[in-house]
Amino acid sequence: MPSPADTPRDTPATRANGSELVRFDKVTKRFGGVTVLDQLDFSVSTGKHVTLIGPSGSGKTTILRLLMTLVRPDEGTIKVDGDYLTHEERGGKLVKAGEKHVREVRKKIGMVFQQFNLFPNMKVLRNVTEAPVHVLGMPKDEAEQRARELIELVGLSEHLDKYPSQLSGGQQQRVAIARALAMRPQVLLLDEVTSALDPELVAGVLDVLRDIAHTTDITMLVVTHEMSFARDISDAVLMFDQGKIVESGTPDKMFSEPEHDRTREFLSTVL
Ligand code: ADP
Repeated sequence: MPSPADTPRDTPATRANGSELVRFDKVTKRFGGVTVLDQLDFSVSTGKHVTLIGPSGSGKTTILRLLMTLVRPDEGTIKVDGDYLTHEERGGKLVKAGEKHVREVRKKIGMVFQQFNLFPNMKVLRNVTEAPVHVLGMPKDEAEQRARELIELVGLSEHLDKYPSQLSGGQQQRVAIARALAMRPQVLLLDEVTSALDPELVAGVLDVLRDIAHTTDITMLVVTHEMSFARDISDAVLMFDQGKIVESGTPDKMFSEPEHDRTREFLSTVL
């Protein structure tokens, strides 16, 4: 059984590994006076797949939105690959990060949302090449070659010349996955990526993600209600309740022998 690679707090295991890709330190987020994340500490090591589970409203999506800098923390710091996302060092002091700094650090992060949000006026290939060419400045030829490889990885090579509206929801979501990977992120965030899909399309998307998890070395932070998928791909599972981690461990431990009542209660509603 693999040991828990990622834990809410520093342990000898995480320190010995020495390559934390994502680190939250005492992060608090409030919305209108309501504390949604409460002094949250956790880390994800390079190459690991960590899944966030817990009841609706427990703060899981807010964690991904903080990493995408769609929202800013009220307290605490977030580091990605050794750089602060939330702060920057100026004149030996740690100050709130400026837009330019945030943009640079955010390049290390890719996200796939519930709603795939493809560019409707662009064919599949261009949806995947657009950001590498215009944001990263990648030469068009190189971006296209890479896009073709990624579109093959998600099983859509026959659909390069289609517009999003000509594809099923599951196929569109697979394009969104290829598009996120095209930016060569170090960490891929997946936010309930199958929850907007018709049930018969869910398996195809999860199969693609399983394949990516098992064949690439990308780090993943995943919010999902698909527990068998979580069990298949995760190195560690973190159970959230009311903005705090109540329990964490390997998927075997979390799904077979959960220790905390809240975890047992939650799992009884989703398994
Ligand atoms: P989960 O992903 O676990 O369902 P979320 O992170 O989406 O939980 O939400 C946690 C809490 O924060 C919920 O109560 C939600 O209503 C609230 N929340 C999230 N985003 C906002 C926002 N932009 N404005 C106000 N409240 C928000």
